[in-house]
Amino acid sequence: MHKKILVTESSMPPFDEYINEIKDLWQSHWLTNMGEKHKRFERELTEFLEVPNISLMTNGHMALELVLQAMELSGEVITTPFTFASTTHAIVRNGLTPVFCDIKDTDYTIDAEKIEHLITDKTVAIVPVHVYGNVCDVEKIQSIAKKHRLKVVYDAAHAFGERYKDIGIGNFGDASIFSFHATKVFHSIEGGAVSFSDAEMERELYGLKNFGIRNQEIVDKVGTNAKMNEFQAAMGICNLRHIEEEVMKRKHLVERYILLLENVKGITICKTQKDTQSNYSYFPIRIDKDRYGMSRDDLYEKLKEENIFVRKYFYPLTNEFECYKEKGYRGETPIAMKVSKEILTLPLYANLKTSDVNRICNLIGC
Ligand SMILES: *Cc1c(COP(=O)(O)O)cnc(C)c1O
Repeated sequence: MHKKILVTESSMPPFDEYINEIKDLWQSHWLTNMGEKHKRFERELTEFLEVPNISLMTNGHMALELVLQAMELSGEVITTPFTFASTTHAIVRNGLTPVFCDIKDTDYTIDAEKIEHLITDKTVAIVPVHVYGNVCDVEKIQSIAKKHRLKVVYDAAHAFGERYKDIGIGNFGDASIFSFHATKVFHSIEGGAVSFSDAEMERELYGLKNFGIRNQEIVDKVGTNAKMNEFQAAMGICNLRHIEEEVMKRKHLVERYILLLENVKGITICKTQKDTQSNYSYFPIRIDKDRYGMSRDDLYEKLKEENIFVRKYFYPLTNEFECYKEKGYRGETPIAMKVSKEILTLPLYANLKTSDVNRICNLIGC
């Protein structure tokens, strides 16, 4: 039996580098509550992402939940069901009502052409997702938002470090959230951040992630605890030094995958987008059962028998979740439904071997 290959594997900085980074913590005894590492990581990220403002969070989900809370919205939010549970949960946990817009068949991001007819007088925001690092139609979304005076918050959990038309991805909309979860291209074990345009929001987010505590005697918001600790920040600082190498390694593997799979009948590969500098975070393929001769689910099982664990990502759609499907949320999403039944993401991580890619493609190709 060949060795097990999982869909992802966390990249680690050199051991000594991390140990060296956390050493001061034994002097300072300051382990969380916006310490020195936290401050430094926030500064370095602001610079790296070329965004005006960053607020670190303990994970990407809380980043989304709290930026929506900070905007003090009530009503309907237009979003996509072709995403991770977090996106829809963050909307619902804020007492907002998700309205589901269908996606594009090409890059699986929200279909901006279908947003406007979902807008009602209750609509307050759009929460699109840069799926697999594919950038949404940010220009069209911006013009719709402007026309109808809606907030736009991007779930950029998949898009760390990307650029669109040479602009850092965190600059679009009113805010974007990033996830630094262990399985992402860039991680701080668990972690996340909000980038935002309005500097006023800094104070709001700082308060909300720290129980709504304004100062020792004033608690003025129903906040929560979403602070990133110093060990997370130290991991982030270390990994940021290696991000370019990380992305390059992934790029080579993706090129190999494309070379070996692009001519397989019934398999569709996501094209690299125009004007986008990708981070190669995922490698999704779509399986057309009739042309390929095997369903997505059968291919998934076949690879599993070979000790290769791919992922049905995203399946099911969030509007098909047990907790949501009976809620009667508006929006028909037939394309998202079809894609979710045909999609597989293949193993992709910096240390994946070219020979492993060859083996995976051999199994898929025959
Ligand atoms: C990972 C992810 C999140 C949540 O991030 P966490 O850091 O795990 O909380 C949100 N949205 C999408 C699309 C993700 O992939």
